[in-house]
Parts: sequence; C-alpha cells; structure tokens
Amino acid sequence: MKPCPCCSGKLFSSCCSQFLAGKAVPKTVKQLMRSRYAAFALGGYGDYLLNTWHPDTAPAVTAADLGSVDSNWSGLEILSSTQQGDHGTVDFCARFLDEHGQVQTHRENSQFVRIKGRWYYLEPLSLNDETAGSAA
Ligand SMILES: [Zn+2]
Repeated sequence: MKPCPCCSGKLFSSCCSQFLAGKAVPKTVKQLMRSRYAAFALGGYGDYLLNTWHPDTAPAVTAADLGSVDSNWSGLEILSSTQQGDHGTVDFCARFLDEHGQVQTHRENSQFVRIKGRWYYLEPLSLNDETAGSAA
C-alpha cells in the first residue's frame, strides 16, 4: 500500500496505477498530468509517456530511453487547470532534487489536446523555470 507519487493523497493502486497499467484512460487533463508525473517519478514507464504525448511534439527517443531518465522527482503541485472542449491546460509546479541534493522546482503551464476521446500532452504554454534563487 504505497501513496501515489503524484501527491494526490490517494493510494497508488487507486490513483495513477490504473492509467500506467493501461486499464483506464484519463478522463481529465489533471488525471493525465498526474499520471504522466507519476510515470516520470517512478521511471520505467516510457511507453506510457510516449503514448500520451502528441505525435507532433513527442521527443524522438525510444520508450526505454524516456523511461530511464534519471530525475529525482519529489513532488507535484497542480496550481490550476482549464478544460474547454478538446483543449486543456495544467499549470503545475514539480519539485526535484538536483545533483547536490538541493530541491529545485520546475514550473510549467502545459497544453493538452483530446483526440478521439484520449488526452495528449502537447507542449508548454510558457516556460517559466523558477530556479530557487542563486546558489550563493
Ligand atoms: Zn496519482
């Protein structure tokens, strides 16, 4: 019984696990955002990340490469989200530990599109990296 890495406060088994295992499809942009964050945080879910990435903007890497990205993700906070028809955005802040063990944050407003009932990550609306002050 482990908590979901997406910080929803739910158990992994009753949260993003169903999406990562392909047993359910996220119905909202927030669910997709959370499950993609969980995929990054857990590692080994490159297939899921590629399958939920819009083909126009998906990186030209293999699922194995994507699943083995070495990032120490340590938290997700969804600040706001919008959903209108088949378009949506999620403004979020994700925390990770850098190579010195310092907490850094990645702030992004992501765009999502829905095609044939499935949500896909498109690209950031505006990139605003909040690197926490100078390293003085
Ligand atoms: Zn979750």
